Amino acid sequence: MEDQLKTLEAMQVLDDKIGQYRLLQEELPKQLNEINEKVEQATADLLMGETEKSEINKKQRAIESDIKTYQEQIKKYAGQLSEIKTNKEYKALNSEIAYLKEKVSEVESQLLLLMDSENEVNARIEQYKAALAEAEANKKAKEGDLKAQISTLEAKIASTRAERNKLAVTLPVALIKRYGNLIKNKDNQAVVYNRDGSCGGCGFVIRQQMRIELQLRKKIVYCENCGRILINPASESSNESG
Ligand SMILES: [Zn+2]
Repeated sequence: MEDQLKTLEAMQVLDDKIGQYRLLQEELPKQLNEINEKVEQATADLLMGETEKSEINKKQRAIESDIKTYQEQIKKYAGQLSEIKTNKEYKALNSEIAYLKEKVSEVESQLLLLMDSENEVNARIEQYKAALAEAEANKKAKEGDLKAQISTLEAKIASTRAERNKLAVTLPVALIKRYGNLIKNKDNQAVVYNRDGSCGGCGFVIRQQMRIELQLRKKIVYCENCGRILINPASESSNESG
């Protein structure tokens, strides 16, 4: 019986290991996704910043071209002033020039505002570039290792399972079945320890009679509540039996 109890404990250790591998199988691809998503996000941010900047530059060029047109017009009208015959025409042309000058100063102030926007977007672009560089460096540092880990997990699970099955064949078939069902249905925990008089799996209080049976280690004891296999921790058993 002692051998069977030790085998069950050893099997649970291996199933704990398999459980950890399974968690990693869920966790590591998430980490890999996160790493890639950060790069994608940083790339999208940078593209957005650069698009904003090119829109600002487009507006600036349009305004600069308007200014040029206005100024050419002003120059042309100013040249015509000397050829004007009547006072009325002179006044009309002068007011046209004044209007154009006003237009120029109006769009020039728009140009200043656009310069502010351009400075602001330039600063953001620098931040986006730094964030992208960081995300890419992080990816470079971790991606390979993560992929390698992920690719070996299935093999690790298989070899650990084989190791466990090798232990299992020494047990009675009914016990193997019960163990297997517990692993499957009880959160990967078939064998649990007596934890200060309670089941280490569900916390149910162990009756006095069963505590004695646990100490004797002459039969397999099952929790009356969750059905898991109960075992006394090695130190406790050896203390009380020795
Ligand atoms: Zn229990």
